[in-house]
Amino acid sequence: MYKGCSMENLPMWVNIPGMDREENITAIFTTRHGGVSSAPYDTLNFSLHKKNKLENVLENFRRLSEKTGIPMDRMVLSKQVHGSTVSIVDKRHCGMGLTGERTLGDTDGLITGSKGVALVTFYADCVPVYLYDKKEGVIGLVHSGWRSTIENISAKAVEKMKSVFNCKPENITAAIGPHINKCCFEIGDDVYREFVSKLPFSKEMIKPSGEKWKADLSGIIARSLILEGIDKCNIHDIKRCTVCEKELFFSHRGGHGNSGTAIALFMMAD
Ligand SMILES: [Zn+2]
Repeated sequence: MYKGCSMENLPMWVNIPGMDREENITAIFTTRHGGVSSAPYDTLNFSLHKKNKLENVLENFRRLSEKTGIPMDRMVLSKQVHGSTVSIVDKRHCGMGLTGERTLGDTDGLITGSKGVALVTFYADCVPVYLYDKKEGVIGLVHSGWRSTIENISAKAVEKMKSVFNCKPENITAAIGPHINKCCFEIGDDVYREFVSKLPFSKEMIKPSGEKWKADLSGIIARSLILEGIDKCNIHDIKRCTVCEKELFFSHRGGHGNSGTAIALFMMAD
């Protein structure tokens, strides 16, 4: 088992529940600690796009690679656009976007049936969803912001696991990592209406909050996974809010739009 490394006693990552008992699986979500980026990206920033020194971001990747034992040239980086495209990747994509050239277009979700391929997606409040079929040896990792949640990206990932890898939903374990929880995720009428028209069941998970609404993204995602046939008992939620814990995690809203970027990293060992 991998354990978070200690940098002034603060971990570089948290382990994802439901996956962390599997010996051959690394399923983590990074904190903002243990890196070298300066404020407001302090310190473990992984964004290759923000106004942040690239050399610092690469040093952060190097440190994470060293502590997890996962080489950078095994990592496959998403290119996120708040859409619902989910892509299948394999060993040929290793290093993509980091040590190697990008050969895939925009994608908010990655799936692999290959061991030793480390899926990487990026976050600053959006929801990381980890999917694992132990029987078929398939993992999926989805970046589900509110737009992608409305587009049902997690359900689309499960459908792809079924159609491409013959996964059975009853064998799939799902886990939801740290993100902006219902305590802090406020939306306006326009977004509320979009949720309810595209995903009618979401009405139960969006509550009035003064003039606005508060939405439970993990509840909505869990329901869409249950509708795909995943057993409720096999859906885990870490229940940690990136805004409430903005000293531990990067948070777009917690940092008033100025924040670094965390990653989710998911891999089956060789
Ligand atoms: Zn919160």
